[in-house]
Amino acid sequence: MPARILDGAKIANDIRSEVAAEVKTLSVAGVRPGLAVVLVGHNPASEIYVRGKVKACEEVGVYSEQHTPPETATTAELLALIDNLNRRDEIDGILVQLPLPQQVDSKQVLMAVDPAKDVDGFHPVNVGFLSTQRPGLVPCTPAGVIEILKRSNIPIAGQEAVVVGRSDIVGKPVAMLLLNANATVTVCHSKTRDLAEVCRRADILVAAIGRAGMITRDFVKPGATVIDVGMNKVTDPAEFARLFSGNARREETFQAKGSTLVGDVHPEVAEVAGAITPVPGGVGPLTIAMLMFNTVKAAKLERQWLVASG
Ligand code: NAP
Repeated sequence: MPARILDGAKIANDIRSEVAAEVKTLSVAGVRPGLAVVLVGHNPASEIYVRGKVKACEEVGVYSEQHTPPETATTAELLALIDNLNRRDEIDGILVQLPLPQQVDSKQVLMAVDPAKDVDGFHPVNVGFLSTQRPGLVPCTPAGVIEILKRSNIPIAGQEAVVVGRSDIVGKPVAMLLLNANATVTVCHSKTRDLAEVCRRADILVAAIGRAGMITRDFVKPGATVIDVGMNKVTDPAEFARLFSGNARREETFQAKGSTLVGDVHPEVAEVAGAITPVPGGVGPLTIAMLMFNTVKAAKLERQWLVASG
């Protein structure tokens, strides 16, 4: 039986509606959550991401502003900008779009963001809050993974979860969130021995690798839930054929655009998994939805209005 498709786009829309309702409630109390996005230089991919984030703010009623220092910006100039945003009461969230130009010390800039406004959840203070289960700001994509599981009624407590990937922005926080939700968690990486065998233990398998279609059916226990965080652009016709041969819809897009988006999970996995997130339309849409959620959460945390369920 083919896997149940976990509709990330729908879940993201639900979250955005909930956030919009919360923004309305806050506005009655005279509070309008605000997000500042810092976009340095002209990276076309970053410009697209930032446009999506600003549009999402408009849709849910969050105030937003963009800061666009030139490609030549120095670390000192960016630190001064962050310092100014840290001090402003109407700014609840600060997002520094990565990557920053080479001459900039990215770590120093990210560390300068006030942890209470760190809506990306990358600051070590928020990493510490996550690992000690205190209220804080959780990285958006990992938080989105958990939302997909919970809202799809997939049990986490007591389940074997395997996360492939250990990056600070995806793998590690996903693993920590699953652990906090009482899964038994294994984290894999490029040095893991017998990766397929380890993955086959998983009731919940999360792929955050950055390698197109690497997780094939022999990595997956029949009936497992597979969450595909990967977003890879495939342009090579041979690679396309390995992944999508016989898929007329994909072939049409590939012919027209010369590329297609694929996750870290091979499409054939849908034949063995119990449930799976598609790419596109799975984890991707959750990232911006959780950014909106985090901006409102930051506004509430700042004012100590966080409800117990936070
Ligand atoms: P990353 O920083 O490059 O980390 C990749 C991880 O995968 C590393 O831990 C690496 O192991 C591991 N890995 C690489 N090759 C492997 C192999 N052959 N076997 C086992 N493990 C392997 O990537 P990332 O930033 O976490 O992103 C991962 C993927 O998620 C990418 O496709 C990215 O585009 C996507 N992503 C999507 C969203 C979204 O909104 N949907 C957001 C963020 C990222 P080592 O640590 O040993 O090198």
